[in-house]
Amino acid sequence: MKQYPFISLKKVNEPYEQELVAVAERVIRSGRYLHGEEVAGFERELSAYCGVGNVVSCSNGLDALRLIFKAYVSLGVMREGDEVVVPANTFIASVLAISDAGLVPVPAEPSAATHNLDLDLLERYITPRTRAVLAVHLYGSPCWSASFEEMAHRRGLKIVEDNAQAIGAYVDCGGARRMTGALGDAAAFSFYPTKNLGALGDAGAVATGDDALAARVRTLANYGSDVRYHNPFCGYNCRMDELQAAMLRVKLRHLDEITAERRSRASVYERAICNSLVRKPLALAGAVWHQYVVAVDNRQAFRDYLSAHGVGTDIHYPVPPHLQPCYAGLKHQPLPVAEKLANSVVSLPITESTPLSDFEEIAEIINSYKVDC
Ligand SMILES: *Cc1c(COP(=O)(O)O)cnc(C)c1O
Repeated sequence: MKQYPFISLKKVNEPYEQELVAVAERVIRSGRYLHGEEVAGFERELSAYCGVGNVVSCSNGLDALRLIFKAYVSLGVMREGDEVVVPANTFIASVLAISDAGLVPVPAEPSAATHNLDLDLLERYITPRTRAVLAVHLYGSPCWSASFEEMAHRRGLKIVEDNAQAIGAYVDCGGARRMTGALGDAAAFSFYPTKNLGALGDAGAVATGDDALAARVRTLANYGSDVRYHNPFCGYNCRMDELQAAMLRVKLRHLDEITAERRSRASVYERAICNSLVRKPLALAGAVWHQYVVAVDNRQAFRDYLSAHGVGTDIHYPVPPHLQPCYAGLKHQPLPVAEKLANSVVSLPITESTPLSDFEEIAEIINSYKVDC
């Protein structure tokens, strides 16, 4: 039987193999493995790509988020015990970064239609201690609105973007396109291998137009050292290495093609999936489809059916962070929408390395799904 794997990283990187091998050789022969030209070049290129003043490369997406919040605390912009509103249905790294900086995560309800923060409900989570909203562009769909931006500015809140899943996404603001990663005060990127711009290992980045924040992030990521052997702060080692930077430079040049391929795959699903048991996601023009996530009531039966027809699926995410044992003590408002989504979401294959014609076939398989089949 034909198989439709959820993702194959080998296939994802196959088209770039020659280019990747060539740059790996360049790095190996350079004798420079950290703090070199590749990292500096990648930072310049990502900053130009997103249209944001500063990019600081780092070790992974969680560290990018941690560095942003720790830098805000280090700069005195936030204090221990201050609150950060975060969507309740995000990947746990978003929440870990907040609590790791001594801040209090305040999980907020998503909208069942967008799966992103329900921006209309946001004010109910804001208290005098709120300092920031972590806008997660979940599944590659921008979490943004003009009134959200206006409200955050009016209340003096920072907007931090978790752009791990949405590199290349944009929102239309009065005809002008604004890229995610350049919308808020600071943004974290992840280049985990399965992300739309995936490294061949771990890597991440912070982007911000705030020069003081960028400088503090860079210092904290390098042992808290500004000048060699001078340490004004207690920092960390969160560097990106030259090999990953070199590979990311190759793949960044192909990112717009990757995004276009993913958008055409999502369009096939959008047009061809027609089954009243399967709720399709909202199709935003600027989304980059890190995941294509449908919602179904009897999820296990649906996944078993797809699996029996060779279609691989995954779940993002089965247990929301506030229900994880590590956050057992976390106070929060009732989160019925997030909890219902956690029990009904199913991610379908969406990778650009799977042939476009396969998506018509997957849609047909989905359309033949009945409750008792
Ligand atoms: C992948 C991801 C992260 C963490 O990135 P890593 O590079 O795996 O540490 C953070 N937030 C979201 C929403 C993610 O999808």
